[in-house]
This record gives sequence, C-alpha cells and structure tokens, in this order.
Amino acid sequence: PSMGTPDEVARAEARTAHNYHPLPVVVAHAEGAWMTDIEGRRYLDLLAGYSALNFGHSHPRLIGAAKAQLDQLTLTSRAFIHDKFADFCAGLGDLCGKELVLPMNTGAEAVETAIKVSRKWGYDVKGVGADRARIVVAAGNFHGRTTTIVGFSDDPDARDGFGPFAPGFDTVPYGDAVALEAAITPDTVAVLVEPIQGEGGVLIPPAGYLRAVREICTRNNVLFVADEIQAGLGRTGRTFACDHEEVVPDLYVLGKALGGGIVPVSAVVGNKDVLGVLKPGQHGSTFGGNPLACAVGSEVVAMLATGEFQTRGAELELVLRERLEALIGKGVVATRVRGLWAGVDIDPALGTGREVCEGLMARGVLAKDTHGSTIRLAPPLVISADDLNWGLDQLAAVLA
Ligand code: PLP
Repeated sequence: PSMGTPDEVARAEARTAHNYHPLPVVVAHAEGAWMTDIEGRRYLDLLAGYSALNFGHSHPRLIGAAKAQLDQLTLTSRAFIHDKFADFCAGLGDLCGKELVLPMNTGAEAVETAIKVSRKWGYDVKGVGADRARIVVAAGNFHGRTTTIVGFSDDPDARDGFGPFAPGFDTVPYGDAVALEAAITPDTVAVLVEPIQGEGGVLIPPAGYLRAVREICTRNNVLFVADEIQAGLGRTGRTFACDHEEVVPDLYVLGKALGGGIVPVSAVVGNKDVLGVLKPGQHGSTFGGNPLACAVGSEVVAMLATGEFQTRGAELELVLRERLEALIGKGVVATRVRGLWAGVDIDPALGTGREVCEGLMARGVLAKDTHGSTIRLAPPLVISADDLNWGLDQLAAVLA
C-alpha cells in the first residue's frame, strides 16, 4: 500500500527503466482540464498528454463510447472484420478528405507505416530502382522512437548509442523550402515533415512554407507526408495544422488525440493511388483498428466534425497569446502560439524549463519542458478561459 507521494515516487523509480524523468506527482484521478493526485491535491493540466488529451480527461462522449464497446467486443485482429471498422475508416477518411485509412496504434508505428507506404509507392508507381528510395526530413524533427525514426533525428539524446541506422533519409533545415527542393533527387519518394515542430519547441515554419512544400512535392512527383500526430485534430484551432495554409498532404499521419486519451490509436490516411500500393501480407498490426480503438476513434471523429473544438482552440489562442506576450521581458524571452499550443522560451538566467515546471507544480499547474529552457503549453481544448487565465497567472508568478 502507498504511503504518500514520496514513497510512491520511490517505488515507481525503483522498478522502472529510467527512460523518463517525470515530475514527482502521482495522479490518481482527472476530469476535464484538472487532475487530482493521490493526496487530493488538484492540478491544472497544461500538457494534455502531449496533445493526446485534446478533449480533456474523461470526456463523457468518449468514456461512453469506450464503456459501451467494452461490453460488446474488444479485439478480433484484422484476420476478421468487426462491426466498428467500416464506420471508423469512412469517418476518418471523410474528416481528412481522403479515400483510405490504415489504422495502427502508436504515432511511431504510423510514421513507420508512412515510410513503408512511401517507399512502396516509389518503387511501384514512381519507378524508383530497387532499394534506392530516399525520403527528405527536417532538422529538429521528432517522429517517434523506433530505430529507423531515431536514425534520422538530430537530437543526440534520441539517437546516440542506438545505431546502426536505416539509410535513405536526407535532412534539410526546417522551414527552408529552397533547401528542401535542392535535396530532392530522382530517387526521392517523399518529404516527411511536421507542419509545426512540437517536441522541437512548437516551432512554426515561416508563412508559405507548407504551401511551398506542397508545390515542390507535386512538381517533383514526390509524396508530401504530414506528421500531424501532435499538431493535428484541433490543437491549432483548425482540424489540421496544414489547414492554416489550405494545404492537403498526400498522407496524413495521425495519432495521439485520435484515441481520445483512452486507447492508443494512430492512422495513415491517403488516397487509393498511394495507400492502395499495400497488398495483403505486406503490412499489419495485431491491435491496429481494433473494435475499442475504432469505437473511441469514431467518437473523436464525430466530435471533431462538429467543429466546436477547433473553434475553442482558435478563440482561446487569443487569451494564450495575449497573456504570454505580456510576459516577454518578464521572464519570457520569446513565445510562439498557434491555437491552444505554445512554445515559451524562458530566460535561461531564471533557471531551466524543468525548474519552472517544478515551480508550476508547486502552484498547482502541470506542464512540461522541452529542450532546455523551453516550456510547451498544450491545455485540453475543453479548458475554460478562467482556468487558462489562472494557469497563466501561476506562470507569471513563478517567473516573477
Ligand atoms: N510524431 C510526432 C510529431 C510526435 O509529436 C510524436 C510524439 O510525441 C510521435 C510522432 C510519436 O508518437 P508515439 O509516442 O505515439 O509513438
């Protein structure tokens, strides 16, 4: 039995691999934008599970869909079709304006899937010579933790000690369309980018970049693969971050919020001319597209189809932006905001991002640093303006 937070933290640390350095809080319950720890203290959640909790904790529609499905059917494997599968694929495909959906579980799996599909398309459709396919990626990217994916990361923590790595990736500076086009060769099959770099610190590329990527890909017969795993599904005030430039990629890579904060659900979404290259036996997942995932995922899609969460994100962006910009020179060096999503660069003289997050925790706010002195804020889209303002009051107080 637990003897309180320090004891529970020690018990967790004693028996887990130390691939994370969590804040010393032990959460036991959560609803909406608020979490409660094992000692009854309440915290405002300004991370939202790295955008996996866009709809907040325990949203009644999502919990309802999950509970109803638990009593019916939870897993068939893809060896059989189940009764929630077609609706999920049609709903998500329609949300994306695409013909086909390939469901997986985690974000990294969906990125791996997009890489495989892009290469297969390159060989079968574009006519690239065997094993010659190349994919252009951006510096500062974060696409997940598999060996192939960390192989084209430039973050030493993510990559060092995990080689040898898969070849076939070319890195160009993020936000530089000229460099991107220069890296394209006749063997290039895809450009894989985050429309906003989340782990990189909520880095928003220059206006026109995504449109340029789209145009360059079309002109060079290269697939535009948008990793919207963290940026997509309402986070930026639009359904997709690409929507801000009215750009449609060839493949959407989705995850996180697609599972409603309940189950891991990811997907690659595209048209038949691309996703259609996969034939039976060439790709799969035991859990991908399972009934529970599809039931929750379909509810997520239905909620996004109303547009109300995107609208909330767009409205609260104004609050977030105004409050953060007011902190510039008062502990904040720079801030980047799109929708209900912000990167906040803290004056390094005040301490590390970690130290600021510890200060926030002491004041009842949970947030997460990324890369030294940057804090990422991604509150649930259901947060009230009052709660958001209160959370930002706490940030101002910690920085004061
Ligand atoms: N791609 C992006 C843009 C992400 O932000 C993440 C996770 O942070 C991933 C991929 C990997 O997702 P997962 O942790 O579910 O494998």
